[in-house]
Amino acid sequence: MKSVFFSRFFILLPWVLIVIIMIDIDSKRTIRAPVAGRTGRTQRTARTAGAPGVGGTHNQSALPIIYAITPTYTRPVQKAELTRLAHAFRQVPRFHWIVVEDSTARTELVARFLARCGVPYTHLHVFTPRRFKRAGMPRATEQRNVALAWLRQHRSRRDTGVVFFADDDNTYSLELFEEMRSTRGVSVWPVGFVGGRAYERPLVSGGKVVGWYTGWRPDRPFATDMAGFAVNLQVILANPRAQFKRRGSQPGMQESDFLKQITKVTELEPKANNCTRVLVWHTRTEKPHLANEPKHRKDTVVIEV
Ligand code: UDP
Ligand code: MN
Repeated sequence: MKSVFFSRFFILLPWVLIVIIMIDIDSKRTIRAPVAGRTGRTQRTARTAGAPGVGGTHNQSALPIIYAITPTYTRPVQKAELTRLAHAFRQVPRFHWIVVEDSTARTELVARFLARCGVPYTHLHVFTPRRFKRAGMPRATEQRNVALAWLRQHRSRRDTGVVFFADDDNTYSLELFEEMRSTRGVSVWPVGFVGGRAYERPLVSGGKVVGWYTGWRPDRPFATDMAGFAVNLQVILANPRAQFKRRGSQPGMQESDFLKQITKVTELEPKANNCTRVLVWHTRTEKPHLANEPKHRKDTVVIEV
């Protein structure tokens, strides 16, 4: 009798352990969004919620949410870039990070990173067709459009928000987000290290944009970088067909071609003290030198970088 009990116990034991482990893994996963993306709602720290100058929790919930769209792709510096961005974004109240991977599926590296980054996020992906991955071709067109489609599908007339395109290698000051938060239509500001100059900026007269200070193609209708403007969420929703174009778009014209679809130069809202302050920099990260990296793994453990 006793031996029957013991043999049953040992047969059942591994199955019980497997079930316990499965339940444990499942409870650690991030919450899944109903459609394509995965959305995480990491709890904000009390310090951010009660930060001086931004008011209490009640006032904050009245602020429009800033939706930052970040296209990103697998390369040695990817996690370092995303880490740098998260350090800034984590400090911005009412912020939602839409990260769009240029890949055929969401990667484990980015999924793990986002789950722990402390910023509310949505994780999407779309792979850029090979024929578009050539020098001189605009980058991240499909990724930005997928993010716009997500907003149109998951946000409505009732939602207040501001949409901003935040490439993963730029440098963002916290003040930039304070400036863009009040965007009613489309707002603009200077960007450092772009257009072949130390900075590029909209020229402002009487509170209106009247031209562009730039070293590259000043004939562009909107001579600004992707990091130089923000759009009210309702403008994105009211122009459901507006998107970034491949067809007919010349290199470097992505921003101008997009903005043409949703606004006019005379309607632009200048930020950053009438476009006289640089609060974002179009920095570019140097490729790390990996000449001594072994072809086949030599270390005894697998390390994520
Ligand atoms: N990017 C991408 N797929 C690519 C190349 C770039 O998703 O094949 C992303 C990149 O991570 C960045 C944005 O597109 O967020 C702009 O790319 P990059 O910074 O290389 O362009 P640049 O600043 O030189 O215009
Ligand atoms: Mn860049």
